[in-house]
Amino acid sequence: MKNPRKRQTKNDKQYRRQRHTTNDEIVFLGTGGARYMIATQLRATGGILFRLKKSNILVDPGPESLYRLLNYVPKFNPEKIDAVVLSHKHIDHSADINVYLDVITKGGFKKNGMLIAPADAFGEHGVIFTYLVSFLREVHIIKPQLEISIGDVHLTFPVKHEHPVETYGMRLVTRDYSISYVADSKFFPGIIDAYRADILILNLLRIEPSEIEHLSIPDCEKIITGIKPKVAVITHFGMTMLRQGPWKVANQLKDATGVVVLAAEDGKHYTIEKLLSYG
Ligand SMILES: [Zn+2]
Repeated sequence: MKNPRKRQTKNDKQYRRQRHTTNDEIVFLGTGGARYMIATQLRATGGILFRLKKSNILVDPGPESLYRLLNYVPKFNPEKIDAVVLSHKHIDHSADINVYLDVITKGGFKKNGMLIAPADAFGEHGVIFTYLVSFLREVHIIKPQLEISIGDVHLTFPVKHEHPVETYGMRLVTRDYSISYVADSKFFPGIIDAYRADILILNLLRIEPSEIEHLSIPDCEKIITGIKPKVAVITHFGMTMLRQGPWKVANQLKDATGVVVLAAEDGKHYTIEKLLSYG
């Protein structure tokens, strides 16, 4: 006869793991990028909220981000954001950052929150108001290979990107899964080794490779093929991508790579459990 006690322990373990991952999700507060999307809001430009292991990490809050957060995650109090991460200072990633810093610190009355951003986002030519920085509990300047733990989520910034301003993507690693966010960059082979993960988020702005330093469809194909994640999610679409149809492009990438590729949608909550189930 099987030992019922042993079975119970195993089930408990499985149950615990499931429960820990079940509430985890990625919410796209925007899936648009660049000038035309800022101006028209045909796709929102609010960045991404990672809700992982009870930590809330907001990344790249572009124009209208707070408004989108209040609409897309209505029961969530933005004061509960544990960390704000800025990949780079371009306006489609950073426009609302000061608004959040004010919210998180209650206008300076509460020393609170963590900010993680590249050096050129601060100071006279930066985008972060200097007076707000002093209200924060923790400030980290991103350098290649910076590592920070936020609760049970371990963040790393593996490599500096090729983009007109200082830019970094990041990996979010937990006990149960890993996520990579490949922010704006011209393609370079180092991206593949830097961003190996179960869930791969790619900022795909352009259809064709171009002089402007952004990932294109062929670049994303190379990255997905090189990493072979369980699932890839494309986002940060420009106008030409929107005209082309992000879902069509996602299917095209899926056919080319054999990996499930999703085109992110504004306001959609992607549970980690569901994303991992594709692999
Ligand atoms: Zn940019």
